[in-house]
Amino acid sequence: STGVKDLGFTLDKLEDEFLSGLSNNTISKFLKELTLEPHVAGTAEDLATAKYVFDHFEASGIVAHYSDYSVLLSYPIRRSLSLHLPDGSLKDFTLKEEAVEGDPYSTNPKVIPTFFAYSPSGTISSEVVYVNYGREEDFLTLKDEGVNVTGTVVIARIGKIFRGDIAANAAAAGAAAAITYSDPFDYAGNGTQGYYPSSQWLPPSGVQRGSLFLTNGDPLTPGWPSVPDAERLEISQVQFPKIPVLPVSAQDALPILEALTGKVAPQEWQGGLQLSSYRLGRGPAKVKLSYEGNLTMAPIRNVIGMITGSEEPDRYILLGNHRDAWTFGAADPNSGTACLLEIARGFGNLLNLGWRPRRTIIFCSWDAEEFGLIGSSEWVERNLNLLASRAVAYLNVDTAVGGPNFDGRATPQLDNILLEVTKKVKDPTSKYGTVYEAWSALNGHGTPNIGRLGSGSDFSAFLHHAGIPSYDIRYQTLYPMYHSLYDDYNWMERFGDPMFHRHVAVSGIWGLLAIHLASDAVLSFNYANYADELEAGAMALQKNLLSENITANPLFPAISKLRAAAAQLGAEMIQMKLRSLNDRMLLAERSFLDPSGLTRTSWYKHLIYGPSGKNHYNSQLFPGVCDALAAAMSINNKASWNALQHEIWKVARAITNVAHFLSGEL
Ligand code: GLU
Ligand code: CA
Ligand code: ZN
Ligand code: ZN
Repeated sequence: STGVKDLGFTLDKLEDEFLSGLSNNTISKFLKELTLEPHVAGTAEDLATAKYVFDHFEASGIVAHYSDYSVLLSYPIRRSLSLHLPDGSLKDFTLKEEAVEGDPYSTNPKVIPTFFAYSPSGTISSEVVYVNYGREEDFLTLKDEGVNVTGTVVIARIGKIFRGDIAANAAAAGAAAAITYSDPFDYAGNGTQGYYPSSQWLPPSGVQRGSLFLTNGDPLTPGWPSVPDAERLEISQVQFPKIPVLPVSAQDALPILEALTGKVAPQEWQGGLQLSSYRLGRGPAKVKLSYEGNLTMAPIRNVIGMITGSEEPDRYILLGNHRDAWTFGAADPNSGTACLLEIARGFGNLLNLGWRPRRTIIFCSWDAEEFGLIGSSEWVERNLNLLASRAVAYLNVDTAVGGPNFDGRATPQLDNILLEVTKKVKDPTSKYGTVYEAWSALNGHGTPNIGRLGSGSDFSAFLHHAGIPSYDIRYQTLYPMYHSLYDDYNWMERFGDPMFHRHVAVSGIWGLLAIHLASDAVLSFNYANYADELEAGAMALQKNLLSENITANPLFPAISKLRAAAAQLGAEMIQMKLRSLNDRMLLAERSFLDPSGLTRTSWYKHLIYGPSGKNHYNSQLFPGVCDALAAAMSINNKASWNALQHEIWKVARAITNVAHFLSGEL
């Protein structure tokens, strides 16, 4: 039985029952209650949200428990910034995001000051250089322009790469400190359409907080769980960011950039601030930046809710979302939490009708994501082998709604299920019939574009550390209020999703994915699609290999084997073999892992997908190969090219291992 027959209706009717029960009213109520107060990880307010989620799971008939860890967090103590002009004048910045008219949340005194978690403390007084988005190529441009950043305070606009990569690039270039700011070009429609509260855009005093930490999980327990009596590294053994970094607003960045002389920055470096032109510096203006933060052991709390499967209780479909927020978290992450709670309510109603899913469904509400995906990573480390042997797929939603467009990312064998499901859910704008049509319209009405998973949210431990097929879905394009004071219910109600119909759509898609994966007798994992993706990547790599002696050739026969094994699966759907067949499909992804991990950070074990070394948020196909290629291009000796060839062989073996595993033949 699929668990559906007991109800006397089909999977289709079960889905209809679930979809028709979703309510924008309950979702908006959940969101409002979750976001009354700021709830940064490690605070009493955040702990209160854990109880709220726990109580809701239990009230919905879902058995819940807490999963607690004790981890190293980082909070601000003091920050100051001043600008010193050559004429001797001085300007002190308040570094405060201003309250706005008609938004009572924005006056809440408990909002954490603007800062970057894990920034080292220090006071630096130096000349300033403008470094555009702080990418590797931006620092190369400065070098070409003859601007020496050694010992300076660099100022970067934020928005193209993970802030931790900006900090690392600045330190590598020799800067003494860095400032990031939110340029109106990137966060406020170039400043031409007004600002919140009169429009959706980030006010001039708005600032993006965040973590600078580049690896995942508690910094003191890399690879093992932070239970109370765990072994912990000394703080001195951890690679923290090397230079102090402070985030500021567009308003505070303006006089700093205005005071720069030197060459006019390239056309693409000109942002949206009201100044005649962005110049590179260095100086002659100086800033004095001072930051003091602490590193504190703090308790964190995940909430786990389970619906035990009727026939395969030891096969898990996991839905996860983080709960902790830098401020109120109306979009990031509690728009997702509100959807998770709505799905729990909906599944609770199905349970009352007598439904039991075939497989176990697990709801996960993560803590301390914002500091470095800590709650989810500790939980995966704690349960590694149980998850490795039992997890079917992990379904992540972080910010469910931050903008107008649906966006889905997945490991390739899961693409088809997402496409199918979006054909069943109504387009929230009603401009199109279904989410699928609206999503496809973004791609010229062709097949929607499904992205791949970089890092930057809680799927990372599941995919990159444990090799579990994963999704990440949301409505967003650019989310201007990201990590600012104004990520509150008032903004969401006025601009983000006034009718909460986008929230309903995410709940529908997320819930249907879970129902499918938990109910389908045969999992519809499409490994042929994975093979297509790998082949395209291998061909692109082949083109990129400059040296005559290095070849991507080992990859092609491996990919052919994968394609053949995938085709063979289709021929095997006999009842007796279902469990073996499903196991091979769900466990195959694990064979893409290498136990020794990537050279750059061994916690990342996946050889096909990893975060890009240049931008933690972006997905990088063949991350180990790409790292070795970059190293070979810069070192350019025989050993470095041989190391690249070795990485290619490793990937080829991993693909062959997946093919072999899928075949099930010794
Ligand atoms: N989602 C958070 C951010 O983007 C944390 C990402 C991470 O630490 O990997 O800031
Ligand atoms: Ca750990
Ligand atoms: Zn988030
Ligand atoms: Zn966030």
